Amino acid sequence: MSIAENVARIREQIKQAAMAAGRDPSEIQLCAATKMNNADAVRQAIAAGVDLCGENRVQELTQKLSENAYAGAPVHFIGHLQTNKVRQVVGKVDLIQSVDRLKLLQAIQDEAQKQGIRQNILLQVNIGREDSKGGFYAEELLPLLENIGSFPNVFVCGLMAIPPICQNSGDNRKFFLEIYNLAVDITAKNSDNVSMATLSMGMSDDFADAVACGSTMIRVGTAIFGPRNYQ
Ligand SMILES: *Cc1c(COP(=O)(O)O)cnc(C)c1O
Repeated sequence: MSIAENVARIREQIKQAAMAAGRDPSEIQLCAATKMNNADAVRQAIAAGVDLCGENRVQELTQKLSENAYAGAPVHFIGHLQTNKVRQVVGKVDLIQSVDRLKLLQAIQDEAQKQGIRQNILLQVNIGREDSKGGFYAEELLPLLENIGSFPNVFVCGLMAIPPICQNSGDNRKFFLEIYNLAVDITAKNSDNVSMATLSMGMSDDFADAVACGSTMIRVGTAIFGPRNYQ
C-alpha cells in the first residue's frame, strides 16, 4: 500500500477510536515518525496530510532540514537527545518531545537563552519505570514543574510517553490512563508557563488504545512507511 493509502487508513482508524470514546477526531494529531525514511517518503507523508513529522536522530534531522524535506509541516524531535547536540535541535524544531532528564532540560534552557528564543518541549515520562527507557518518573513531575520558573526559555506543552511492550492488546491502557491522569493532576495545579494540552502517546501498534485514553498526538512510523530497514 502507498503512503497516501496508509495515512488515509490511519485517519479512519483514529476517527473510529475517537468516536467510540466520545471524542472529536480533530483533537488528535498524527505525527509521522520519519526515522530511517528519506526526504521523498517524508514529502509523500506530508502531501498525504499528516499533521507533523517527528525525527529521532540529530543527523537525520539536519540532513532532511538541508533538503527542505519538512516543507509544509511542523517538525518535532522525538528521540534520545545528547546534551552535546542540543545546539543542532533547539530553534530548529517546533517542539522537543523527548525531554527525559534534568540535565537535558538545563542544556535546552541554556541554548534557548543563548539564541534568545523560547523552545517548546514535552516532558517524557518513564511510565513503566523501565531501566531501558529514559524519562522522568511520575512523582518527579510535580516538584519539577513547581520549579519550572527556573527554566524561563522553555515552555512545557505537555507529556510524552512510550509504555512498556504489553503481551495482550488493551493491557497498555493502564499506562495511557496513568499519563492522562498525571496531566489532569498537573493541570489542577495551574502552574504558570505549563500547559498539558499535548499528550503524545500511541504508536503503530497501540494508537487506538492511546486515543481511547486521551492521547492528543500519536507518533506513527511503521504503519505509514512500512517496516524500517535496519541493514
Ligand atoms: C520509531 C518511533 C515511533 C514510531 O514507531 P512505530 O512502531 O514504527 O509506529 C514513535 N515514537 C518514537 C519515539 C519512535 O522512536
